[in-house]
Amino acid sequence: MKTLLHCCCGPCTAGSLPAFLERGREVTGWYFNPNIHPYKEFTARRDSFIQYMQAVNCEYLVENEYPLEDWLLVQAPLAKERQARCGNCYRLRLEPAAQKAAELGYDAFSTTLLVSPYQDHQLLIEVGQEMALRYGVSFDYIDLRPGFRDGQNQAREMGLYMQKYCGCIYSEKERYVKKKKKAAE
Ligand code: SF4
Repeated sequence: MKTLLHCCCGPCTAGSLPAFLERGREVTGWYFNPNIHPYKEFTARRDSFIQYMQAVNCEYLVENEYPLEDWLLVQAPLAKERQARCGNCYRLRLEPAAQKAAELGYDAFSTTLLVSPYQDHQLLIEVGQEMALRYGVSFDYIDLRPGFRDGQNQAREMGLYMQKYCGCIYSEKERYVKKKKKAAE
């Protein structure tokens, strides 16, 4: 099966790719992440993805378009509703992934977001299945979470950039606010 794998960064790709290859998938990684702010962070994660894919000699595509403004316009009304905002964020990435997989003739699409214990795994499955139906390609679901730690360790060994927050400006704020709250407690 040929799978277009939406990739959010190098470390998550390192934790995810082996599970697809072990199952005999032909994988192309695809970097598309308008939710990663600011621009320098977007490029740091993109470059860590490229570095990893080149090191393991796997085919990849990069979407350099960075529609930050479109992402913010859609997400601003949901700024204070984390679950709705994250669900929408999954849609804003998995819909283009499913669409691209269909356009390029892949059998399926999937996402490295499934490796993270910090993401809403069930919601990701629901959005993936919704997009699969909409674009007539399979959602290649694998519970990738068992590979998370290995991916992080491999990324550190390779000297890949390791991010400190989920991606958007809201999550960047939460990173510091949570720390402050903990310190105050
Ligand atoms: S916290 Fe992460 S998943 Fe949620 S909206 Fe921000 S970047 Fe997207």
